[in-house]
Amino acid sequence: IDTAAGPVIRQLDDTVISRIAAGEVVERPASAVKELVENAIDAGATRIDVEVADGGKSLIRVSDDGCGIPSEDLPLALARHATSKIDGSDLLAIRSFGFRGEALAALGAVGRLTLTSRVMRCDAGATIASAGGTLGAVRPAARGCGTTVELRDLFYATPARLKFLRTDRAEMQAVSDIVRRLAMAEPGIAFTLSQVTDGEARVSFRADAETGDLWGALRGRLGRIMGSDFTENALAIDAEREGLHLGGFAALPTFSRGAATHQYLFVNGRPVRDKLLTGALRAAYSDVLSRDRHPVAALFLSCDPELVDVNVHPAKAEVRFRDPGTARGLVVSGLRHALAEAGHRSSSHLGG
Ligand code: ADP
Ligand code: MG
Repeated sequence: IDTAAGPVIRQLDDTVISRIAAGEVVERPASAVKELVENAIDAGATRIDVEVADGGKSLIRVSDDGCGIPSEDLPLALARHATSKIDGSDLLAIRSFGFRGEALAALGAVGRLTLTSRVMRCDAGATIASAGGTLGAVRPAARGCGTTVELRDLFYATPARLKFLRTDRAEMQAVSDIVRRLAMAEPGIAFTLSQVTDGEARVSFRADAETGDLWGALRGRLGRIMGSDFTENALAIDAEREGLHLGGFAALPTFSRGAATHQYLFVNGRPVRDKLLTGALRAAYSDVLSRDRHPVAALFLSCDPELVDVNVHPAKAEVRFRDPGTARGLVVSGLRHALAEAGHRSSSHLGG
């Protein structure tokens, strides 16, 4: 700094701005997988295939059979703040996973991204590439209806971030965790997760689409992901309070764990890690579990999008309820009520 003249303020160029913004959206391979799978869900896919090599560091490929992207829109899909999901008029009524229009741009800024897609009304698909934020030309490409996003060499353009990644094994574990979480909330969609080694893909997780009624499908999917011993030892939860609905399954106290690692919480279909909700889950079991035991549950809170703000964080793992007390009360009373009915009477009254 020139002490006489003061510091020089410069406008950063777009590539640098994109890379900084990308850092908030994409922290590690699992966050890239999350964005891509959520895009596929938003596109109405009925099957989603995820392929990963080296824990996602060298390759992430997500293919879906959703609505696709018209070839003329491919460059726009990779532009920052471009989205088909909201028009900006009602940020409080978001029903899709995406809305920031940031993910593809961010991924294209920090890795080598290829977006290939075809919509129903066209006989041919098209493809576009982005490397470190530089867009290539749109070229024709053969594929069925739907979209494939291939992301190679994540963070090659931001070596500092690359250094923070953990082992391939740990990154793969995080990828697997997020795919499972997303699959839990979407029993109607078939998912596969494959590990690619030397060009060979080996399926490490498969969840076929569940059919039947909503509860049956959910129970089937949860059983496949969390284990059938969970669903066999779980109580169905179905409670409502002031426009909030709580559904899902919560295990009997006898099926508790030594760590709070088997608690899956969703708000309007999104996996969340929310202190308010995990605190409520803990409180609901406080009279029937000792302090070193933790309940196992998969809980789905749903409400009008206006009652919850999902705009808190770019990675969207946090939410903010308009009325946190109601959300907490519903979880506590809904679970206590189910536990009491199953004969695990708590000492405090059931009002929550
Ligand atoms: P957002 O999801 O917030 O809209 P993204 O950067 O993730 O932002 O995606 C930008 C746009 O690209 C989306 O709004 C959508 O129109 C399109 N898109 C991305 N992925 C897919 C997909 N798998 N299928 C169809 N369209 C997609
Ligand atoms: Mg998105």
